Amino acid sequence: MASQDFRNKNEEFIRMAKETNPDFFEELKNGQSPEYFVLSCSDSRVSPSVITQLPLGQMFVHRNIANQVVAADESFAASLFFAIRHLKVKKIIIKGHTSCGGVKAAMERNHEKELQKWVSHIQESLPTNFETESMDLDELSKQNVLRQVKKLKKHPIYIKYGQNVEVQGYLFHVESGELERLA
Ligand SMILES: [Zn+2]
Repeated sequence: MASQDFRNKNEEFIRMAKETNPDFFEELKNGQSPEYFVLSCSDSRVSPSVITQLPLGQMFVHRNIANQVVAADESFAASLFFAIRHLKVKKIIIKGHTSCGGVKAAMERNHEKELQKWVSHIQESLPTNFETESMDLDELSKQNVLRQVKKLKKHPIYIKYGQNVEVQGYLFHVESGELERLA
């Protein structure tokens, strides 16, 4: 997409938003009060806003490759803390997807130096017997989400501040558009 197209798309967005609600941007300026904190994969096919059609202001989103909860990840920890303590979100959603390239890299033991550290986090989240059980990529993407739900509930910030916030896990099917609830 050329940069001009990027701008044109934005102008179209502004026009449509104002058509639905002329005060839309004035209201956004007053602040955010999102109901959801979403942890999603960075994959370009799985944008949480696009697949749910929730308007701006409804989701506080953190994205990384293969939607990982890593206790030592200070960027994620800050997002989680801010979402729970300041935004007071009602639900935490962990959303993985089928055909996940991050899970595939872990499954195939990718050794590229720049990816290695992150891929090792994903590898730790896969069932140890996945090869002998011949689990395929989509099954592993599902197992990965379930594992991140467990890790989130053990995250020090969740334990300290988020006990009353419900955690849900979903798998987005890129082949059909369906959002499947897993946990
Ligand atoms: Zn992915």
